Amino acid sequence: YNMFNCKLLLCIPVYGNTVQHLHSSILYQNLAKEVYFMTDCIFCKIIAGKIPAAKVYEDEGVLAFLDISQVTPGHTLVVPKKHFRNLLEMDSVNSSLLFEQVPQIARKIMKATGATGMNIINNNEEIAGQTVFHTHIHLAPRFSEKDDLKVTFVAHEPNFEELGKLAEKIAQTKE
Ligand code: AMP
Ligand code: ZN
Repeated sequence: YNMFNCKLLLCIPVYGNTVQHLHSSILYQNLAKEVYFMTDCIFCKIIAGKIPAAKVYEDEGVLAFLDISQVTPGHTLVVPKKHFRNLLEMDSVNSSLLFEQVPQIARKIMKATGATGMNIINNNEEIAGQTVFHTHIHLAPRFSEKDDLKVTFVAHEPNFEELGKLAEKIAQTKE
């Protein structure tokens, strides 16, 4: 009996500490994930290796993989590994890390696919066509004006007075 009680007294604190330690490390990991990864974000899952993607480039901060919809052959998405809803939420350091890699990835795609041009597109918020809310840059190589990518800029008659006013307003607005 004495031995049994003694063992229990010795064991409980050790067990208690271990549980507490485990618990706090799980809490810490979850906290870190909340900052850098969104558990319900499809691109965070690709970055974490939880779902597959056809990767074309990877470094510490950036991942590029083929878009599943392939608007044109070689259509690629370049994403920051850190989760941001879209470009509007990013600071200059993180957006620089992302854009720094875009030209070289673009050239690789051009060379590999034999494309003769490329549209580089970024959609922000639903109204602009964003469907996945983790910043991504579309790199869409072009092979023909008649391929499946349609980008239309409808031109309007310029009113130079209005342009001047609007430019001034934007220039004076704090971000
Ligand atoms: P956006 O409409 O600008 O938000 O673009 C989202 C893009 O993500 C679309 O072109 C989708 O085809 C693409 N996409 C969605 N899920 C995946 C996935 N699992 N792997 C690759 N691309 C994906
Ligand atoms: Zn994400």
